[in-house]
Amino acid sequence: MRVIASACHHRGVTWFEDLTPYSYFEIMPIGWSETGPPGSRPEHLFGHGGDERCTYSDPEVNVGWLDAAHPVPTARPSPRFVALLTTMCESDEHRLHQTRGHHGCPFCDLRSPVASAEIRVQGDGVVYAAPTLIAHYVAHHSYAPPQAFVDAVLRSDGAVAETGGKRVVPEELLRREPIDWRAVEAQVRSYRDWLPVAEIELELVHGGVHVRARVDCPRTPFAIDVVIPDWACMRTDQVAIGIASMIETRQQILRGIRFTSRR
Ligand SMILES: [Zn+2]
Repeated sequence: MRVIASACHHRGVTWFEDLTPYSYFEIMPIGWSETGPPGSRPEHLFGHGGDERCTYSDPEVNVGWLDAAHPVPTARPSPRFVALLTTMCESDEHRLHQTRGHHGCPFCDLRSPVASAEIRVQGDGVVYAAPTLIAHYVAHHSYAPPQAFVDAVLRSDGAVAETGGKRVVPEELLRREPIDWRAVEAQVRSYRDWLPVAEIELELVHGGVHVRARVDCPRTPFAIDVVIPDWACMRTDQVAIGIASMIETRQQILRGIRFTSRR
């Protein structure tokens, strides 16, 4: 084992110690459709970055979230490990949590859109969560991930990790809190850089809250008039994000922007 010289400049890469619980895309309120919240129970209101596909059978742990400020274990990798890992990191089937922009390697000048996503590898009772840069770290910087991860990649033979587990939403998120409706309005208005809400009015009615909003898109101004049921109003923040995302979804539909899933 030796340590890679950390001579290259740091570019804000996120560092997590190997095998710590994955938390990069934490459980958070998920976006609503134009007609309101999805599902029918509070558990449906929270998810990993809103991506329903990313519910794994086992808890996720971090591997390969390196940066130049922390020591990196190294070893010569086996060719089969490098080949499998590279294929996984480059395939659409594996890549998730794709973010915009070009992420750079903290150890060299590589900058590539290929780097700005993550993969999951099924382990023994865990699912490994790694940035797609991990293939480059292994191939070009001899990064030695934990042996259990190497074994898991070899055993997977390139298969995606098992999904379909129960999404575990922390108890504290499911605890209903008194909602500050003025704060909800203020939060929705605070998104005015990308959400031109001219008016918003929230009125508590039997069984829910009546949301009326007028949105001044330059070409297609529109109004929202929806009753959000009580069960979907858990917390101040969560309702504000829900309402804002509902308005944004309508805005995107009117603009003709449609999102399609690869699967
Ligand atoms: Zn590099």
